Amino acid sequence: TQDLLINSEKLLAVGELAAGVAHEIRNPLTSIAGFVHILPSAPLEKQSLYAQFIKGEIERIDRIVSELLTLSKPRVMKYAPARLDAVLVEVIYLLEAQAHLNTVQLVPQFDASASEVMCDENQLKQVFINVMKNAIEAMPNGGGLTIGLRPTDGAVEVSFRDTGQGIAEDQLKRIGSPFFTTKETGTGLGLLASKRILENHQGFMEITSQPGEGTTVTITIPLRLSTIDQRVCSASATNIN
Ligand code: ADP
Ligand code: MG
Repeated sequence: TQDLLINSEKLLAVGELAAGVAHEIRNPLTSIAGFVHILPSAPLEKQSLYAQFIKGEIERIDRIVSELLTLSKPRVMKYAPARLDAVLVEVIYLLEAQAHLNTVQLVPQFDASASEVMCDENQLKQVFINVMKNAIEAMPNGGGLTIGLRPTDGAVEVSFRDTGQGIAEDQLKRIGSPFFTTKETGTGLGLLASKRILENHQGFMEITSQPGEGTTVTITIPLRLSTIDQRVCSASATNIN
């Protein structure tokens, strides 16, 4: 086990984010300002509706700020050996209720013969949760999410295959860039954070999708970190397409 202090500046291109943050927060602020302006003279029966809108926009800002905080927090990575089948079982358990509510079937298909990797278990859990939530959210009318695990050469491959709406080709390129979301209540930060975490594990993520058929997210994590040196870690390749 080794603790690594990761400089937040290395994790994020701050400049790139700043413009996005300003934009993402200004939008709800503008609409809050609008509702506050009309609220006093609005008919009584409309007032609580407008108050609801305002509340919704405030919650949106709150979500964005929370996700940004998790992204930018300098954190100590704690690497230790962990079996990915066990990690996945826990994550599946955590998301079972949400899957059930969406009539989504979670189907584990594990070949766990060699699934122990050096990782920060909590961080990897966060990645798996982000990816699985996206899959569940992509299946509003129910479906299946198959979670695969298999050893590959020097690495472990974890795949998440859903039967959801899929991703249009022009959108596939933009996924994982800051604030790219197609959801009304999305932040577009989940996969960005996931990419960063995987980089720190010298791993990567690939997404393939067939609009109308479904999406598969494949995550590869090496069994061992080739060096614990963070400069090397953050220079490792990431591929999200
Ligand atoms: P958010 O979930 O807040 O929108 P993410 O970074 O987690 O942000 O995802 C970005 C976008 O990628 C989503 O808004 C969605 O359009 C797309 N996406 C990610 N995973 C899937 C999936 N399994 N099926 C369809 N679209 C997906
Ligand atoms: Mg998400």
